Amino acid sequence: HELQIAIDGPAGAGKSTIAKIVAQRLNLFYVDTGAMYRAIAYKVLKNGIPLEDELGVNELVKTTEVVLDHSKEQTVWCDGENITQAIRNPEISRAVSIVAAYSGVRKRLVELQRLEAARGGVVMDGRDIGTHVLPEADVKIYLTASPEERSRRRWIELKNSGKDISLAEVHQDMQKRDRQDTEREVSPLEPAPDAVILDTTGLSVEVIVEKILALA
Ligand code: C5P
Repeated sequence: HELQIAIDGPAGAGKSTIAKIVAQRLNLFYVDTGAMYRAIAYKVLKNGIPLEDELGVNELVKTTEVVLDHSKEQTVWCDGENITQAIRNPEISRAVSIVAAYSGVRKRLVELQRLEAARGGVVMDGRDIGTHVLPEADVKIYLTASPEERSRRRWIELKNSGKDISLAEVHQDMQKRDRQDTEREVSPLEPAPDAVILDTTGLSVEVIVEKILALA
């Protein structure tokens, strides 16, 4: 297979920022798998399906089209609707870990993710890329940062996009989501045995990018 770089880690560790730049530098596709799970959460909420209704959610996924557009300004589409902005809402962030724990959802999205990787070299970020989606990836990175720094980064991101939410609320939401992602039965968040663990606390984006490029 062509070059595959897997980047996993908890929310707010800097995965998407870093993955995007690495992909650009190496001329690879960037695949944001979190956006795919967010798309499903979006559709579940939109259709008024209760988040606890696992069978209903697994059924809905089968008829949902999720498309990542890889042109310069990357966009996310769900059944023909551009949901790039909508999936960043805190409401979606609260719902996504619940639907991401359902095996029917994961099965379908992992299929799509492997199809993406079959198109050419990729930088893929998520929670289970090195452990499950691309176990043969050439470079596996597990990005972390202190919980305080991760919350602060996400809060600044939300502020910059005009969302009025307190740092405390962001922190609470993220702690909860990380707990759900690490404690679920299917493909929980954990470093692959062969992943390089990078703690980004206090490090600049450029320093981390350079470390990953050196590994690649
Ligand atoms: O990366 P992001 O924070 O957008 O991911 C949103 C959620 O999607 C995660 O909290 C997790 O529940 C789920 N996810 C997952 N597996 C992945 C990527 C994301 O379960 N590979």
